[in-house]
Amino acid sequence: MIDQAATDFEAVHGARPSGVWAAPGRVNLIGEHTDYNDGFVLPIALPHATRVTARRREDRRIRLYSAQGDGTITDLALDGLAPGVVASWAAYPAGVFWALAEAGHAIGGADLLVDSDVPTGAGLSSSAALECATAAALNDLYELGLSAPEIALLAQRAENAFVGVPCGVMDQMASACCTDGAALFLDTRTLEQRHVPLDLEAAGFRLLVIDTRVKHDLGDGAYASLRAGCERAAELLGLAALRDLPAGGLAAALERLPAELAPLVRHVVTENQRVAETIKHLDGGRIAELGPVLTAGHASLRDDYRVSCPETDLAVEAAVAAGALGARMTGGGFGGSVIALVAAGDVAPVSDAVRAAFRSAGYAEPVLFTAVPSPGARRLA
Ligand code: ADP
Ligand code: MG
Repeated sequence: MIDQAATDFEAVHGARPSGVWAAPGRVNLIGEHTDYNDGFVLPIALPHATRVTARRREDRRIRLYSAQGDGTITDLALDGLAPGVVASWAAYPAGVFWALAEAGHAIGGADLLVDSDVPTGAGLSSSAALECATAAALNDLYELGLSAPEIALLAQRAENAFVGVPCGVMDQMASACCTDGAALFLDTRTLEQRHVPLDLEAAGFRLLVIDTRVKHDLGDGAYASLRAGCERAAELLGLAALRDLPAGGLAAALERLPAELAPLVRHVVTENQRVAETIKHLDGGRIAELGPVLTAGHASLRDDYRVSCPETDLAVEAAVAAGALGARMTGGGFGGSVIALVAAGDVAPVSDAVRAAFRSAGYAEPVLFTAVPSPGARRLA
């Protein structure tokens, strides 16, 4: 794989690369739409990753090629980068160069070859994988000495300010900081993190990922307006962020809020509680207990936050009806992927049931795979 990456790099850029870096996609076990409310999240990194093969350039040019792109090289001047200048996929890696330079890091140009098996636009965070793999490469090529959380924050800055997507910090923290065999329990306010061991296989379970292969356009504008709604609600309640509303104060707070904001607040507060509950179950080795928490999380996203869609709702319903212990959409919503916790022996019947339900509904065939917690951003060669 690494030899192939070097051969591909040479064919595109006409020189040998200095190294190969990788950063994974992720699924979030629980804690959805909490990261821009200073709340808690619990992602795992996927075995699927984006690889960046790279070498330095001394002329301050950036030459970007993706095996998933249109077959052309995007050639940019490092010193000409500014938000809005790059419109294509290349904005994600270019944004990382820009964020690093803007933060005062002494970087120069580079040739990059990108290749990935993270499905794009499937709620599995291919964008953060691309950003973090790029940042990891530049960190080593220019000996910047950045820590994994620093890489995540720069990658988030690239996506927020350069690409123009107002995402929270979960995806980049998951891609940069996750470890093999553990979920990442992250406080998105303090960035305090704990690696919570998660060996589903040893306990006789599997985590089934169901990529519905739909992405509803509605999602792009809806995300920003949901985020604005949460910020408005916090302001009305006199809080820095919704994370500061304790569960015991929820009922009284809901009475003070306008009807359109109350359900958003209910989701965020109960979702933070579900993260805490999940951690307790994991620490106690009670993996089966996660099932109902996942399903309750989905109901909250569907009924209160209203970010699910018919395809994700059907995947959850069909998986649970066929014996999954619990299931929920993962990622921002309006399509994307669903995770289901299933007993090892039930992977086939649950998968078949989901496929059959999609067929009956006339939906496109979903893509299913099982995921184990995998390592975060790293150098491969
Ligand atoms: P997600 O992060 O859930 O996959 P996003 O919409 O945030 O969805 O990011 C997907 C976008 O990221 C793609 O449309 C593309 O512009 C870019 N991208 C991700 N991976 C690659 C890749 N391997 N090559 C080129 N572009 C990529
Ligand atoms: Mg993304």
